[in-house]
Amino acid sequence: MTDKEVLDLFRQSGALLEGHFRLSSGLHSDRYLQSALVLQHPDFAEQLGRALAKRTAHLQATAVLSPALGGIVIGQEVGRALQVRALFAERQDGSLTLRRGFRLERSDRVLIVEDVITTGGSTRETIAVAEATGARVLGAAAIIDRGSDASRLNVPLQSLVRMEVPAYPPESCPLCAQGLAVVKPGSRA
Ligand SMILES: [Zn+2]
Repeated sequence: MTDKEVLDLFRQSGALLEGHFRLSSGLHSDRYLQSALVLQHPDFAEQLGRALAKRTAHLQATAVLSPALGGIVIGQEVGRALQVRALFAERQDGSLTLRRGFRLERSDRVLIVEDVITTGGSTRETIAVAEATGARVLGAAAIIDRGSDASRLNVPLQSLVRMEVPAYPPESCPLCAQGLAVVKPGSRA
């Protein structure tokens, strides 16, 4: 899939809005991204999963691990395309852990899958969950990379689209300076 094809799916489903937004952080931005809206369409989720699987098939992963909740749907689709198990890690008392009887073995080769990587913090945390089991993490994959510092992941990162979304404090927002009305989108992922 090309960048344009991926972004068309986001736009069609309202998962990428362009305008002038007040984010829940209080910062302003010209774009608003909500990947749950594209992933609610099973056919779109399947296409995105297949595209990520194509870029990561060479790693020969034996399992996909995603952080809940945002990574679950796309993780499932990548797992389906690669024909491997798709597990998720979830937060318990503040830290990500494997629950529900999910297990990784020392022999497992793990691919970390997320919907959107922003700083890479949750990706690093998910890598640590996998490594704590003794399994090997071979790579990470995300639909959209919002400008993470991939070198800090210590594993190769594949994304379908790299898109930096600038965010400004209201007092230095160029859109406010143009007098454009600001809108508050739905809850932020
Ligand atoms: Zn503004």
